[in-house]
Amino acid sequence: MFGCSRFTWNYFLDLNNKIYLEAKEKELKKKHLNYYDCANQLTELKTKNKWLKEANSQSLQQTLKDLDTTYNKFFQKKGGFPNFKSKKNRQSFRIPQSFKLKDDQSVLPKFKEGIKTIIHRKVEGKIRYATVSKTKTGRYFVSITTDFEVKKKRISDNRLGVDLGIKDFAVLSNGEKYNPKVKEGNIRFLHKQVSKKKKDSNNRNKARLKLAKKYEKTNNQNQDFQHKLSDKICKENKLIAIEDLNIKGMVKNHCLARALSNQSWYSFIIKLGYKARRYGGKVVKTKRFYPSSKTCSCCGFVNQELTLTHRDWQCPQCQTELDRDLNASQNILAQVLRELNIKGGRVYRLKPVELSSLDEAAKQEALGSLAQR
Ligand SMILES: [Zn+2]
Repeated sequence: MFGCSRFTWNYFLDLNNKIYLEAKEKELKKKHLNYYDCANQLTELKTKNKWLKEANSQSLQQTLKDLDTTYNKFFQKKGGFPNFKSKKNRQSFRIPQSFKLKDDQSVLPKFKEGIKTIIHRKVEGKIRYATVSKTKTGRYFVSITTDFEVKKKRISDNRLGVDLGIKDFAVLSNGEKYNPKVKEGNIRFLHKQVSKKKKDSNNRNKARLKLAKKYEKTNNQNQDFQHKLSDKICKENKLIAIEDLNIKGMVKNHCLARALSNQSWYSFIIKLGYKARRYGGKVVKTKRFYPSSKTCSCCGFVNQELTLTHRDWQCPQCQTELDRDLNASQNILAQVLRELNIKGGRVYRLKPVELSSLDEAAKQEALGSLAQR
């Protein structure tokens, strides 16, 4: 199934690439074959390659639908150009209909017997479709999408500001700080081991598998941490205020740590978003960039002297002792409450900063402090 699905994707991608190039040259309107064109050709392809008939045809049609979606997203500038799928990477195929769970077995169309499955949690609702995947390290998963009504379980009406950073992953306006317990350990050593070994040798494959296993583990630990934290935040709070990361995204990431934290910030915010909805709450982003670490959350004084090395500072105006990130998260919450016209926020106004109006040195610093946090 993996092979057939991959072959179908790659075959039609290749065909489409040729059409795309030709259409570009001749300035034609139609730049790719849509799902129906491809599905028609798939029938022909099956007569040439009989082994494709062994696969569940609905899954192959689904592959073509996915390809069509990727193309359309690309044309709408919402996504990148589709890539060829490689045997070396994660493999997957989707079962749009007739997937069943029977006791501890997954029942897939075209498979003579059910496949023994460890079920992680109770499947609620009506099964819509299932995706079967195989990781780089050779582990198989099936993820099941269902339709069901969510019962809202939130208990309180609290409001919370969240500041995402590099030193601490998340600092909350109630003073709590959270960091994933991920041990990167010997990742560098494992990378070196792979590059040391001869290309295409057995030893290199072994080293590569070890590295992939390590990555899989750290990724799982990270995801677990993000799920637990976002669940806790969304259960306990009705309104969750965060900074708009688009500005953080403006900062070019030269350093790996930053690139990685960027990625995990985004995935964390996505989790916050859908979990908040699940519990009947809301995630609100600040509308513009505010100097949230430089502004005193007590009196609104903007401390221009503050640099990246200052973790704690005392406000020169009201003498409050401030923790950089906690102060920032409190400012983010106050700002969102202001923007939503909710009373109970703080009295002062944060002064928005127009990046274009800043002089070059100040701009660099502003961007730097965004990147640092
Ligand atoms: Zn102050």
